[in-house]
Amino acid sequence: MVKVMKKIVKTPEEWRTELSQEAYRVTREAGTELPFSGQYYDFREEGTYHCICCGEALFLSGEKFDSGCGWPSFAAPAEASVVEERVDTSHFMVRTEVVCSHCDAHLGHVFTDGPAPGGLRYCINSVALKFEPDSE
Ligand SMILES: [Zn+2]
Repeated sequence: MVKVMKKIVKTPEEWRTELSQEAYRVTREAGTELPFSGQYYDFREEGTYHCICCGEALFLSGEKFDSGCGWPSFAAPAEASVVEERVDTSHFMVRTEVVCSHCDAHLGHVFTDGPAPGGLRYCINSVALKFEPDSE
């Protein structure tokens, strides 16, 4: 089944009222939180990481690994369709930006130095995520 994503579009003013200043800076202005500063880089509970902006389930704790880079790192998104990748040439580098495909929130970047078999490392800002533990 093909999941049709309906984009969430809000004005900067609307996002500003819903998000913390830091979450707004990262997700809506493509900022980056300081390494080792976020809530989830050293966090090992089982559950799901949702988009701070729209609540979409983006990453699962089972794909999280300790990359030592100072940001939460995942080998894969919860589903391929929940994130979009874009070429980012800012800061004199060519990187692949990762955004929420539901609301275009900037999440972080994906790098190709991740663990086997996929070899990907989704390096995501904690402040772009909201963790919910598995209910049981
Ligand atoms: Zn979102």
